[in-house]
Amino acid sequence: MAELILMYHNIAGNTARIDFNEWSPVYDVAATDFENQMTQIAESDHQVELTFDDGYASMVESVLPMVQNDPSLRCHCFVTTDAIGRAGMLTAPELRQLAEHGVQIGTHSHTHTFLQNLSAHGLQDEILQPKNILEQAIGSAVTSMSLPGGRYDQRTLQFAAKVGYHQVYTSRPGFKKQSLPGHAKLDLLPRWSIDAGTSAKDFSRLLRFDLAAVAQRKWRYHLGQSARFILGQNGYHRLWRQVRNNEREAS
Ligand SMILES: [Zn+2]
Repeated sequence: MAELILMYHNIAGNTARIDFNEWSPVYDVAATDFENQMTQIAESDHQVELTFDDGYASMVESVLPMVQNDPSLRCHCFVTTDAIGRAGMLTAPELRQLAEHGVQIGTHSHTHTFLQNLSAHGLQDEILQPKNILEQAIGSAVTSMSLPGGRYDQRTLQFAAKVGYHQVYTSRPGFKKQSLPGHAKLDLLPRWSIDAGTSAKDFSRLLRFDLAAVAQRKWRYHLGQSARFILGQNGYHRLWRQVRNNEREAS
């Protein structure tokens, strides 16, 4: 795996409307910030992999030109298959185009439900079905997935391994991959979230593996996990904005 795996969602560009309930400006990265981040990565000595969740059409505008310029760039796009072709989301031909230029395509469930406590039907619909849809769209094997909301349980992973996935990208920050016990072929990969609140300074500290910055991000992630549990998704977003604003005032 790359030394550092970054998790993005939408790159805010010229898209007028996004017809996807899970989209939130909180996760958007402005196109100019994204360009600056790519310059920093190009100048760094570390191996970085970029991942993009949900399947926004902005991939074509912001990411495709980059991989065309530099085929060695590692990019991964995780698609919520029920949203393919909606306003602001990737279409099947665009997915094929990305794949042809070396962007890895993986699943991100069918309907963006949390991949936890699923029934036998739910496992089929949310883990196997999107794999089949994407394989049909790009004409090659799909063996990776990322987890909506970072959620999963052991059954999710067992089922994923059984139907042919090799990599599960989590939302847990870190540097080491883990293997599912009993399934040496299924890796769980950590990721560092980059979003609207990531300043240029935050980003460069992360790229330098600055220990204080890394610890702060881990702390925020664990705080987020418990807050999400207690407050639910909307309450969590409000708290998150508040924490971010306080940190910005303090720095
Ligand atoms: Zn998502």
